[in-house]
Amino acid sequence: MKSWWKGRKYILAAVCLCLLAGAVAPRPAKPAVPAKPVQQAQGPLEGVTVLVDAGHGGTDGGAVARNSGTLEKELNLKVALALREELEKSGARVIMTRDTDMEYSRSKRADLTARLDLARKGGADLLVSIHMNEYRSRSESGPQVFYRAGQAQSRLLAGAIQEAMIQELKPSKARSAMAGDYFILSLDIPSVLVECGFLSNPAEEKLLLTGDYQRRVAQAIRDGIVDYVSLQIVETNSAND
Ligand SMILES: [Zn+2]
Repeated sequence: MKSWWKGRKYILAAVCLCLLAGAVAPRPAKPAVPAKPVQQAQGPLEGVTVLVDAGHGGTDGGAVARNSGTLEKELNLKVALALREELEKSGARVIMTRDTDMEYSRSKRADLTARLDLARKGGADLLVSIHMNEYRSRSESGPQVFYRAGQAQSRLLAGAIQEAMIQELKPSKARSAMAGDYFILSLDIPSVLVECGFLSNPAEEKLLLTGDYQRRVAQAIRDGIVDYVSLQIVETNSAND
């Protein structure tokens, strides 16, 4: 019993000495064991799930480009697929309503309801629906983002995307984000409908038909989403202060 305690005392003393030595000894300039490499940031949209909706599809072609006759549904899909890539590069999880030429129902309401169900079931944080505009006058041009009236977060998201599109695409007409009454905007998550440009405007149609411009549109939308998300983080942090 006694020798056991004696042994314990030495161990205790040794532990105390070690702690003391640790407290007073100068810290080595470099750790003996190399530190683990710093983990690469996963991107500004890590942990964010975005539902990307390529508007129309199947028997619903949407608008028709004035000169080329290209259907809106085709261009929506191209921009939506590019947007998926850009969002994933930024760390987001993306749910697509479609990645081929299809529709959920020939009833417009049932088709849109199926798209909204994907957002609900997939736990989407944000919803972005991609469309192309048209107007009877050829002179109308410029991308425009719509949100549901009364939804403050959707308005902020729409404003951020609108601003990024103006900065990066430099359209000849800079429009403002606007409230719009669209069924696809009826969820309670921040939701926007992006009209990427006018297919009734010959110059904008020409741009929208090129892969390069489709990519730039997708990048601008992604940048707007990143701006919106970082604004939310800043607000959350200052709320916690
Ligand atoms: Zn449309």
